Amino acid sequence: ADIAMYTAKARRTGYTIFDHSQDSTDPRRLTLAGDLRRGIDQGQLLLYYQPKVDARTGAVLGAEALVRWRHPEYGLIPPDDFIPLAEHTGLIGPLTRFVLAEALRQARAWRDAGHELGVAVNVSAHGLLDLALPVEIAALLEHCGVPARLLTVEITETAIMTDPERALRVVRELHTLGVRLSIDDFGTGYSSLAYLKNLPVQELKIDRSFVSGMTTSDRDAVIVRSTVDLGHNLGLRVVAEGVEDDATWRQLDAAGCDALQGYHISRPVAADEFGTWLAGWDRT
Ligand code: C2E
Ligand code: CA
Ligand code: CA
Ligand code: CA
Repeated sequence: ADIAMYTAKARRTGYTIFDHSQDSTDPRRLTLAGDLRRGIDQGQLLLYYQPKVDARTGAVLGAEALVRWRHPEYGLIPPDDFIPLAEHTGLIGPLTRFVLAEALRQARAWRDAGHELGVAVNVSAHGLLDLALPVEIAALLEHCGVPARLLTVEITETAIMTDPERALRVVRELHTLGVRLSIDDFGTGYSSLAYLKNLPVQELKIDRSFVSGMTTSDRDAVIVRSTVDLGHNLGLRVVAEGVEDDATWRQLDAAGCDALQGYHISRPVAADEFGTWLAGWDRT
């Protein structure tokens, strides 16, 4: 409802966030970029968390942090509507640092409450090319008192493709720190296999577009099963995203998939709701 309201309002004011024009001098784009800059400074960004569970036992392994923007006028804005803007306006750096700091603070809070849960953060192409990122992450881990193994950095193949040599350097340094690396949206990019061969990753996330069709499409099911086998043969943990029903869960478990994420388990929820969800989660 928030989103509908904000799009309706945006349409009325002729001020749209869905303007994906590359024109950086577009006045509306500049206004919104200004809004986002202020939003980051004034604490308008917040994280939702979506649990990752063990496919066999249902045990909660951790959560993926997904950013939202609580815009004072337009309400809650989903990441697909402002991450591209952040990337084009130089705000992705501050945004990524906010997300990392907040997610690690949350991981520490869970730990203090007796839950040793991992937290996964999405780092886009720009972040992966930021040579300062590994040092900053090391400092944040230290500051929050969170072991590096509890942090997973989810990257996409397109992020790596932008500048493979530089990305590889950042990824190697993160790996040296003990941070886990995950290839997100696996199967949707190019040369996926080359990246798997060269990058020190521990996890592969099968894209939702294959997972959601697997109970009705034999082809999707074959792709998912083959990807699970491929991942396992390379010693990787395989996660499926977009699990929306019990039949899909059972099929993924039968395929040997390690971990699951999706609306059937939980939608992404605010941090305080996550505690409630965790307390009520029945792993059967
Ligand atoms: P993603 O990393 O592939 O995240 C999964 C998206 O799928 C999330 O959308 C999540 O809410 C949604 N999802 C989860 N389970 C289901 C399901 O069962 N069915 C369906 N239909 N959807 C499901 P969200 O939160 O809108 O995020 C969209 C994208 O925005 C993310 O895709 C990620 O690429 C990007 N993003 C989110 N947070 C960040 C961030 O902090 N930094 C960066 N760079 N990108 C982010
Ligand atoms: Ca992700
Ligand atoms: Ca994904
Ligand atoms: Ca995706």
